[in-house]
Amino acid sequence: MPTKTTKITPVTTKLNSLFVSPTQVIQGEGIISQAGKGISRLGKRPLLVGGKQTLELISAHLKPIFKQFKLTAAFDSYAPDCSETSLKNLTEATQNHQADLIIGVGGGKALDTAKLLAYQQQLPIVTIPTSGATCAAWTALSNVYSNQGAFQYDVPLSRCPDLLILDYNLIKAAPKRTLVAGIGDAIAKWYEASVSSGQSEATLTIAAVQQARVLRDILLQKSVKALDKIGGEDWREVVNATVLLAGVIGGLGGANCRTVAAHAVHNGLTHIPAAHHALHGEKVAYGILVQLRLEEMIQGNKLAATSRQQLLKFYEEIGLPRSLEDLGLSQVTLEELRQAAIVTCHPNSDIHRLPFKVSPEQLLSAMVSTVGA
Ligand SMILES: [Zn+2]
Repeated sequence: MPTKTTKITPVTTKLNSLFVSPTQVIQGEGIISQAGKGISRLGKRPLLVGGKQTLELISAHLKPIFKQFKLTAAFDSYAPDCSETSLKNLTEATQNHQADLIIGVGGGKALDTAKLLAYQQQLPIVTIPTSGATCAAWTALSNVYSNQGAFQYDVPLSRCPDLLILDYNLIKAAPKRTLVAGIGDAIAKWYEASVSSGQSEATLTIAAVQQARVLRDILLQKSVKALDKIGGEDWREVVNATVLLAGVIGGLGGANCRTVAAHAVHNGLTHIPAAHHALHGEKVAYGILVQLRLEEMIQGNKLAATSRQQLLKFYEEIGLPRSLEDLGLSQVTLEELRQAAIVTCHPNSDIHRLPFKVSPEQLLSAMVSTVGA
């Protein structure tokens, strides 16, 4: 009798780690006053990393907690930027203080610095966002810049933060412009994820792309009302969208759901000194228009033209930049713009995730025609 053989399908065992969310998220008005237990669980000698002013502001909230839970804290600034120099200085500060926990406080760059420092020193990390400008409080990723603020590279981290403290009272005190920028950064998720991963058959990637669409719709529906009434219900939900849901999408989508041209354009613009006053999300928002313009110009994509017109109207309503002029770059030389376009089209740039080739010349013509009909 012939022996039956079972055919075994080889299983690939490629390491594919997902970091979907922080271990714990606590949220509420004035919630920071109740965060002592969560923080003290993670360490007894925290080093707080943030901007100088933010550290002063937050220490009034945190000092009573540190006293109550017998924590010995040190404070240090991430200035001049989330750069290799700052990380080196902060590594020294970590060692001098014998810190066993890093707490990042502030906007995207402060949080990126704190997360990367914790990752390098293998310490737990708490993030306390003080604006709705990015989802950096959530994600397992840090962007590294030069001391002058030019984007250098990003670093994938080994996990999302251990604790995220979202205190709406802190966010409420931030300038309105930061939330507007956060809306720009968050809405980019849809325009980028749908291009990089819209064809994916992977369950979690499909979920991430669909969440990005939900996020876009929430922002289109609620942003105007949210900005009209800071601290109101719509405002709170828009903050949840920019700080939390945008992070969920990054976590679910992981490496499959990458940024495309909008962020690549942002990265290129950071090499123009005159663009430094513009916030991350403002440059990204303009980058979405450039991306859509490229799809129109090179691919003849009519849907992209419609999307761009819809966004132009939305940007006008909430105050996001629609053009280089709006970004305050009307005086920039052609040479500087060309340089930014070359950086954006660098071989490793995410702009090449577009389904067609883009040259610096094509990019330049898209950059100067974001507003046209
Ligand atoms: Zn971003």
